[in-house]
Amino acid sequence: MSEPIALREFELNCPQCGNKVKASVYAYEVPYLGPLLISVVKCESCGFRRRDVETAEAGEPVKIKVKVRGEKELRYLVVKSAKASVAIPEAGLEYTPGPYAQGYITTVEGILHEFLGALDVTCEGGRCEEIRRWLNEAVEGRVEFTLVICDPEGKSRVVGEAERGAIDEECPLLH
Ligand SMILES: [Zn+2]
Repeated sequence: MSEPIALREFELNCPQCGNKVKASVYAYEVPYLGPLLISVVKCESCGFRRRDVETAEAGEPVKIKVKVRGEKELRYLVVKSAKASVAIPEAGLEYTPGPYAQGYITTVEGILHEFLGALDVTCEGGRCEEIRRWLNEAVEGRVEFTLVICDPEGKSRVVGEAERGAIDEECPLLH
């Protein structure tokens, strides 16, 4: 990414301690994606940090579906906005964002690593080992699967072959 095309700074109340904090929003022009907003909030008093990424253009609620067959699709660029949920139906994996969830820019493979990281924190036992094995094979491009991203604000994007449709029962329940 090159220099930001715009920078805006403003003050808000820290969501954790209520103190005044400075937020910075940078806009970048990114090929295939259009304008991308990256915002940074850092609270000096309590240490709260939030980095968020989303596309500048909000849209209709959308379900984005990627058929992953191997390495090519694993390298697709993904912008997952803060409010978007993610599911991999073949593995029974679902992620729904909490109130302080952050948006990020990653790849399809990066999302598999997010799930692996979450498993390490929250999950023990046989079923988890099975999912971990599945995810490790998926990272290596040895299993086919579907990645489903559901975004109520339409700010998520996938750069690559993807199907866009309406939010339906394939989406994890949004809070
Ligand atoms: Zn704070």
